[in-house]
Amino acid sequence: MKQSWIEHAATSGFPLENIPFGVARIRECTAVVTRIGDTIIDLQALAQHGYLNVNADVRETLSHDSLNSFMELGKEVMRDVRAQVAKIFAAENGKLRDHAEHRAHICMTEADVTMLMPVRVGDYTDFYSSRQHATNVGKMFRDPANALLPNWLHLPVGYHGRASSIVVSGTPIRRPKGQLMPADADAPVYGASRLLDFELEMAFVIGKGNSLGEQITTGAAEDHIFGLSLFNDWSARDIQKWEYVPLGPFLGKSFASSISPWIVTLDALDPFRLDGPVQEPKVLPYLEYEGEKRFDIELEVLIQPRGGEETLVCRSNYKNMYWNMAQQLAHHTVNGCNMNVGDMCASGTISGDEEGSYGSMLEITWRGTKPVAMSDGTERKFINDGDTVIMRGVAQKDGLRISLGEVRSEVLPAL
Ligand code: MN
Repeated sequence: MKQSWIEHAATSGFPLENIPFGVARIRECTAVVTRIGDTIIDLQALAQHGYLNVNADVRETLSHDSLNSFMELGKEVMRDVRAQVAKIFAAENGKLRDHAEHRAHICMTEADVTMLMPVRVGDYTDFYSSRQHATNVGKMFRDPANALLPNWLHLPVGYHGRASSIVVSGTPIRRPKGQLMPADADAPVYGASRLLDFELEMAFVIGKGNSLGEQITTGAAEDHIFGLSLFNDWSARDIQKWEYVPLGPFLGKSFASSISPWIVTLDALDPFRLDGPVQEPKVLPYLEYEGEKRFDIELEVLIQPRGGEETLVCRSNYKNMYWNMAQQLAHHTVNGCNMNVGDMCASGTISGDEEGSYGSMLEITWRGTKPVAMSDGTERKFINDGDTVIMRGVAQKDGLRISLGEVRSEVLPAL
């Protein structure tokens, strides 16, 4: 691990090798920021004081209220900024460290800033790419003997979600209302969802678009991906169950999704690449790929009742993906669909093979038949009002830890 003059624990997931990007409100203004340890660094101020050497076009994007314009400048600009930040804050470089006035203007604590939605999301697509999750859902709702539908092993199944309701960590989530079809009823009722759930997902952010009619190949896909964030794809299972036939998810999903404030670049995650799973049957040529396209990122979900302690309910890993990001993006654009900068694609619920690694309450409690014990003695089948759902992610290897941060949201009662 590289040493920085910003003191932080060796276990911090924000060493000089991470340098993620986010957007914060600082002193009534917005700025693109990064983080080392627990210190938030205002990149706009870093440029203003002459430490970060970037041209006027780049500098202008650093005061925007989203990363979109900065991402649009291309990966070379992002790489240059990360390399410069790593030098400015390296232990051996005392220039900024020894200038107290500049340091006070550039370096802040989390308490000094408000982290904002990092990206203006134009379009959001949710995939369904964990085989174990698709199998679990198929067993519960369809045929246990043929849990996977015939298309699943041939293409990364997905649907178009709602971008407007993606919110940043810390934003409370209001329990949605809608049509519910009780098991013993012959007509639907209107009311608050009783089966509110999370979905543990990762999302990738598009940093480079493609023209309408143009495909992105699996080989080119990662050039188009700026980075990754944690993603909680909130789901109202009762609304979803009644509405989804025949056109798929709608109001049971569109009320909210929550993301972490930090976008971690693929460059920072490069040491954590893994080979893919064997894909049998063989995929069509446009879905074939070369290289290590999966990432080893440990993920966890905790539930914290209001005033209570956190209880761990899931430990999974982003490597539990059958379809990788390159395949998802190649499939998304195989019909010529154009992606725009800021578009977000989520993985689908990331479930591992064992109980304890399932990425939704639906699976963890097997449709509510196996409640989870909380540390305060209560139990959960789904998410209660006043519960805070916390997701965290970290990649670690040989003493290097790269954190994805956390996404944390409290559930408020229905209005
Ligand atoms: Mn989902």
